Amino acid sequence: MAELPILQFEEKIIDTVQKNPVTVIIGETGSGKSTQLSQILHRHRYTKSGIIGVTQPRRVAAVSVARRVAQELGVRLGDEVGYAIRFEDRTSERTRIKYLTDGVLLRESLSNPELDQYSVIILDEAHERSLNTDVLLGLMKRLVKLRTSSLRVLITSATLDGEKVSKFFLDCPVLNVPGKLYPVEILYSKERPTSYLESCLRVAIDIHIREPEGDVLIFMTGQDDIEKLVAKLEDKIRSLEEGSCMDAIVLPLHGSLPPEMQVRVFTPPPSNCRRFIVSTNIAETSLTVDGVVYVVDCGYVKQRQYVPSTGMYSLDVVQISKVQANQRAGRAGRTRPGKCYRLYPSRVYEEEFLDVTVPEIQRSSLTGSILYLKSLDLPDIDILKFDFLDPPSSESLEDALKQLYLIDAIDENGSITSIGRTMADLPLEPSLSRTLMEANEYGCLSQALTVVAMLSAETTLLPGRSKGASKGAEKKRKHTPLELPDGSGWGDHIQLLQIFEQWDQNGYDVDWCKDHELQVRGMMFVKDVRKQLCQIMQKIAKGSLDVRPKERRKESRQDYKDLRKALCVGYAGQVAERMIRHNGYRTIGFKSQLVQVHPSSVVRSDEEGMLPNYVVYHELIVTSHPYMRNVCAVEMPWVTPILKKLEKISVSKLSGGSGHVGEETNRKIVDLPKKDMNVQVPDD
Ligand code: ADP
Repeated sequence: MAELPILQFEEKIIDTVQKNPVTVIIGETGSGKSTQLSQILHRHRYTKSGIIGVTQPRRVAAVSVARRVAQELGVRLGDEVGYAIRFEDRTSERTRIKYLTDGVLLRESLSNPELDQYSVIILDEAHERSLNTDVLLGLMKRLVKLRTSSLRVLITSATLDGEKVSKFFLDCPVLNVPGKLYPVEILYSKERPTSYLESCLRVAIDIHIREPEGDVLIFMTGQDDIEKLVAKLEDKIRSLEEGSCMDAIVLPLHGSLPPEMQVRVFTPPPSNCRRFIVSTNIAETSLTVDGVVYVVDCGYVKQRQYVPSTGMYSLDVVQISKVQANQRAGRAGRTRPGKCYRLYPSRVYEEEFLDVTVPEIQRSSLTGSILYLKSLDLPDIDILKFDFLDPPSSESLEDALKQLYLIDAIDENGSITSIGRTMADLPLEPSLSRTLMEANEYGCLSQALTVVAMLSAETTLLPGRSKGASKGAEKKRKHTPLELPDGSGWGDHIQLLQIFEQWDQNGYDVDWCKDHELQVRGMMFVKDVRKQLCQIMQKIAKGSLDVRPKERRKESRQDYKDLRKALCVGYAGQVAERMIRHNGYRTIGFKSQLVQVHPSSVVRSDEEGMLPNYVVYHELIVTSHPYMRNVCAVEMPWVTPILKKLEKISVSKLSGGSGHVGEETNRKIVDLPKKDMNVQVPDD
C-alpha cells in the first residue's frame, strides 16, 4: 500500500501540536487522519503521560478504525489499542490509544470533567457536525482555557471548514494535508430519474459491461434500499452470462450491518473481480473503501429531523449538500482517475443543493445534551449562552428545558435536581432514565430495565416494528413464525417485556428466537445491555437495589400497573389523549397535534372499537401521517399531575431569566376544530 499522505507531515504535525494546545488538521478522506494521527502521537511519546482518545461520531467507525490500528501495531484489540462505544467497552488498563464515540467521551467528562486521564483528545470527523461533537467542541474550548496541564486537542476534518473551527478556537493553527486525488469526471443525468433504485441499477450494470476494472461505490439512502439494490444487482449480474469478462461481488455497507459483514469491504477482491459496494453516506467520509474508481450518487440522504414546536421526528430523504456531493465524487479518485455518475442534472446541484450540510445541533432534540451540560455544573457557563460553533435555535433550547422540567430533571427555576443528576449518570435518553428511577420507587425496576434494554435494540429485533410489517416480507417467509406475546392490551412496552420474559423462561434459547423471527444477535445484545444497566443502577444506588430478573411476583397483576405508571412519569413530555371524533390522539404538551398509533403497534381498538383514553409514546415520527411509535396505555389520574405542571410552566423562569422569554403556556383542554390542527387530519 502506498504511504498515506499524512505520514509525510509527521514532523510538522508534532511540531505544531507541541507548541499549541489546539490544532486543526484538514485532510482529504483516506489521507490517514483516523488511523495514523494517533500512531504518530504514540511514536512521539504522547502516550507516556496519558491516553490518546480519538472520538468518532459513528459506532461503526470507532470499532473499525480501532481494529485497523491494533492490526497495524500488531497488538490485540482491547490491549494497547481499544474502543469504547455505548454498551461495549473493549479497553483495559493497558490501553493507550482509545477510539470512542463522541457520546462516550461526553459521558466520561461527566464523571471526570477535566478528562485528566487523556494526554491528547482528537475530535475526528468534525465535519460531520454531530450533536455530541459540537457539544464537545464547546467543552474543549473551555477545558483548554482552564487546564493548566498539557492537554492537546486535535480537531480533524475532511472538508474546508477549518477556518471556522480555527476562529472558534481563537485562531489556532490549521494544518492542511493535501491528499493525492486524481481527477474525477463528473457525469450528470439529464433529468431526475423516476426511480433512483432502477436508475442506480442501470448505471451500475452499464459500468460493469463497458468500463475497465475498478470497484463501484453506490450511494443509497438507507438499509432498505440497499438491500433491494443488492438483491437486484446480484440477479442482474447472474443473468449477464457473457456481458462482462469480469466476476463481480456485491457488498452492502451500512451502520446496522453485523461487524463481520462490515469488515468485508476492507478485504481486497480476488483478481479480475469487480466489487459493487452499496452504501449509505457512511462511505462518504467515515469509512474509506480502497479500490473505488466509479461512484454512483443518487443525490439523496436519509436524515432525521426534529421539530421542537411539535416534538415530532421525521426521517426524511433529503437532497445532499454540495459538500456531500463533492465528498462522494472524491471517493472515485483515490487510486487513479475515476468517474462519478450523478443521478441528477447539474442544475439541481447548482441551484438546489445547500452549500453545506445542516449540523445535527440544528435538527435534533437537545434534551439529553442540555441535561449533561446542566449536570456538569459549569460555574462560568449559562446554558443558553453556551459557546456552540453554530448555536441551536432558542426554540429548541426552550423545548429541551420544558421537557426536562416535565420529568423533574430541573426545577421551575431551571436548576438541576437530584433526580436530574442521577438521570445524567445513566447512558440513556432522559425519558428512559426517568422511567427507571420511578420504577425503582414502585418496585418494578427489574421489569423496567428489561423494557429499556429491549428499546435499545428494538428496531433490529422486530424488523416489522420500524416500518410497519411489509407484505413482501410476509410472502417471502418459509415458515409461519410462532406468535409473539401481544402486550395484553397495554401496548408495545409491555409486549417487549413479555417477549424478553418468555425468552428468559425458555433459558435464553437461540431456537426460540428463530421460531419467533427475532434476531438472535439482537436479543443477546439486549441481555447484555440489561446486565450493564443493572450494574450502573447498582452503582448509583450503592448496591441496594433489587434488579434480579425475578420470578413474576405472586401478587403481580396482569395490568402491569406499576410499570405503566413509571413509564407515564418518564414519558411525561410524550402523552397523548384520545380524540374519538378523529379516530386518533392528540398530543399534550406540545402544540396540539393530531396523531395516530403506528400501524406496527400492538395497540389496536378492541371489539367495541375502543382505544385507551390516554397513552404515552416513545417517539412521534412523521411518515405518511404523524405516528406515535411504541405506545403504552396509561390512566387519567397519572396524567393529571402532568397537566398541572404544564399549566404552570414559565419558560423564562426555566431558562434562568437569561433573556430568553418564552410564552407562558396557558393551555385548556378543548376539543380543537380540525382547522386548528396543523397536520393532515384523516377522514373520520
Ligand atoms: P481518513 O481518516 O483520513 O479518512 P483513514 O485513516 O480512515 O483516513 O484511512 C486510511 C487508510 O486506511 C485507507 O486506505 C483505508 O482504507 C484504510 N483503513 C481504514 N480502516 C480500515 C480497516 N478497518 N481495515 C482495513 N483498512 C482500513
